[in-house]
Amino acid sequence: MGLLDKINKFRIAKDMMEADLYNYFRVIESAQENTVRYKGKEIIMLGSNNYLGLTNHPLVKEAAQAAITKYGTGCTGSRFLNGTLDIHIELEEKLAALVGKEKALVFSTGFMVNQGVLSSLAGRKETIIVDRTDHASIIDGARLSFADVRKYRHNDMENLELVLKSEKDTNKLIIVDGVFSMEGDIAKLPEIVKLAAQYDSVIMVDDAHGVGVLGDQGRGTCNHFGLTDQVDLIMGTFSKSLASVGGFVAGDADVIHFIQHMARALMFSASMPPASVASVSAAIDVMLEEEWRHKALWHNNDLMRERLDDAGFNTGPSETPIIPAVVGEDMAAFKMCRRLIDEGVFVNPVISPAVEPGNALIRLSLMATHTEDEINQAMDSMIKVGKELELIPS
Ligand code: PMP
Repeated sequence: MGLLDKINKFRIAKDMMEADLYNYFRVIESAQENTVRYKGKEIIMLGSNNYLGLTNHPLVKEAAQAAITKYGTGCTGSRFLNGTLDIHIELEEKLAALVGKEKALVFSTGFMVNQGVLSSLAGRKETIIVDRTDHASIIDGARLSFADVRKYRHNDMENLELVLKSEKDTNKLIIVDGVFSMEGDIAKLPEIVKLAAQYDSVIMVDDAHGVGVLGDQGRGTCNHFGLTDQVDLIMGTFSKSLASVGGFVAGDADVIHFIQHMARALMFSASMPPASVASVSAAIDVMLEEEWRHKALWHNNDLMRERLDDAGFNTGPSETPIIPAVVGEDMAAFKMCRRLIDEGVFVNPVISPAVEPGNALIRLSLMATHTEDEINQAMDSMIKVGKELELIPS
């Protein structure tokens, strides 16, 4: 028995490749837009997180280019030592104002925010409470913290209360996705805020999919509910609406000061490169300036949702421009994605453990810049393939 024996036994991905049903690590040959080039063909992109369509925006690209000219290509060190530029600080001020908190702190990825914040804030004999479908970075950050990790059933407030009750005398932090990344439903923040006050728990919202999508001008889930002041920490990422890579956490100045000196993912990893910092900063400006994007995203949401519902697809609990089509078994999701590529549509399969077994889904996500023609064409293909695979009535 050797350590590498498990590698020979790892067959699932190879079996899928041999069956021509493998839908991962697909290579895109163009910019991330509402259509992308894949295997030499232009196809409709319904599988990105580019909600506002800003990844190829001229002002965002110009800002990145100007930053490279001024600051070069990298910081060669962490924020803690030589890697803090004036533009990191300016971006942090812009982010704090955007989400309505005193201070913000920028990390190199959103994953590292959750890892760094959770592991520095909670420790032994304390408890981190997570929704069962919270993002992997939350689960990993919680595990790293040495705190007890308790899970409650997805968006189930009675179950959350049971957990809170059983942890009555412990220091607690509830962390929840603002918009759930796979199912597209929204956290029940008003109830969570009430329960957190009742049981004396800190609240952190992961707004990776809320920024740009929910709230006034895309200010996120806490703004959407008018609950910014009742939430202790808000994190977000730049890899979705904000068109780049990196992440942030925002909260009271003292809390951010603590995280800044404790989060190992911040202190021992190189800072965001200048081009990314500048593009995020420009993307925020464009988001606030070009309000039509937010409106167009929601208009597209209504159109696609109606087409899916009319055709008999089960769109689950989604309330946002992340719209799943629940197909059941993993194999149905693989087949559907593979057939849709032939039809000129890029979508993603989501299988367990990202969702409950038997609840595999096709994750469809919209952009502000999709045209009605593109959405209708993609939906015609969804319906054609759905009928072919007997997932919806003919
Ligand atoms: N939280 C959620 C809810 C996410 O969906 C993601 C990215 N998929 C992350 C955190 C991590 O963000 P990043 O891509 O910046 O590492």
